[in-house]
Amino acid sequence: MQVKIHRGATQIGGTCIELAYDGSRIALDFGLPLDGDAANEQLVPRIVGDDLRAVVISHPHLDHYGLLHHLPVDTPVAMGLAARRIVTAAAPFTRQALPNLKGLVLEHRKPIEIGPFRVTPYLVDHSAFDAYSLLIEAGDKRLFYSGDFRAHGRKSKLFEQMVANPPKNIDVLLMEGSSLSRLEENDVFPTEDQLEIALLEKFKVTPGLVMMHTSAQNIDRVVSLYRACKRSGRTLIIDLYAAAILEATGNENIPQSSWPGIALYVPESQRKLIRRNEWFDLLQRHSSHRVFPEHLRALGPKGVLLFRPLMMRDLDQADALEGAGFVYSQWQGYLERGSYTEMEVWLEKHEIPLTYIHTSGHASPGDLKRFAEALSPKALVPIHSFAPEKYAGLFSNVVYRNDGEWWNA
Ligand SMILES: [Zn+2]
Repeated sequence: MQVKIHRGATQIGGTCIELAYDGSRIALDFGLPLDGDAANEQLVPRIVGDDLRAVVISHPHLDHYGLLHHLPVDTPVAMGLAARRIVTAAAPFTRQALPNLKGLVLEHRKPIEIGPFRVTPYLVDHSAFDAYSLLIEAGDKRLFYSGDFRAHGRKSKLFEQMVANPPKNIDVLLMEGSSLSRLEENDVFPTEDQLEIALLEKFKVTPGLVMMHTSAQNIDRVVSLYRACKRSGRTLIIDLYAAAILEATGNENIPQSSWPGIALYVPESQRKLIRRNEWFDLLQRHSSHRVFPEHLRALGPKGVLLFRPLMMRDLDQADALEGAGFVYSQWQGYLERGSYTEMEVWLEKHEIPLTYIHTSGHASPGDLKRFAEALSPKALVPIHSFAPEKYAGLFSNVVYRNDGEWWNA
């Protein structure tokens, strides 16, 4: 089996790996670089050809699938069923180009054949829902691609199962190392459970409405949020985008718009979107606990709003910010890069301090070590890290490969 990392040997984001064997090829992920423009054709890895059997998407994060719409529409795309539904549900709200997503379905520990490649997905703990590591077998070689994963989320059992009973005889492990540029060797991230406690404390001490700025697609985080709301007696207020994403998980254990303790609020900009696109069925489906602008002020002290910046005007108009609190629960890099300057100015104007309560979707260096030791590959190749140079000091059998170079597994 031959391997080429198109992008990812020295960076987080834009991941794409091409594999070739016996006249057939597949690609693992087709991601958008972190600062990349999804419309920029210069960024698209050149993989198109008659012998390309499929693109396999490890999980629904843009830095792993965000360039798919540039491929010919008949290119088969293998991914998880829920992942496919989430991408489809999100696209009309976020105005991302919706790629063709037809192809085989990834399911936990169910091998599929793609030409001469045998692909076995392993469900992992990550901040994206329906995320997989992938074992690829072709000829007599076994390559394991970690995808993005962690051990401190709500599905940490999956990590423990993996290290207790790992796939054997791995020739090549392509392992992500997102945390290596952020943490020292012995540092750890807080767990989702610890986050739930921190949120609960924040809800208790905030007299008014709590605004929680996080991605509705971070399903683990929404669950932590819902649990903290329940424990504090507050109602979780979501918008139609979040309601659609939660529904798309297809998982009856994930909070839904119809659950007790959840309310739907449709911001003005979404109301326009609904009218323009005639999403009346979607709105109807999620409206059993709908609240309106005139309710927001009274709900404040008993509510937590899953916040998005497009709601600022609604909150001003509803005069709902007396005693309000704000929790930022995303990567701090977005703030540092100035992605939310307007929101920060708005918070300052209302004298609402920003509280940072977040944990990473990626394994700490210690958990990466446990993972690498358990899989014990003949060669460990860095991917999805801004600090690949640290691998050699932390893990065994590290082999460095460059973007764009073909090599044998
Ligand atoms: Zn990810």
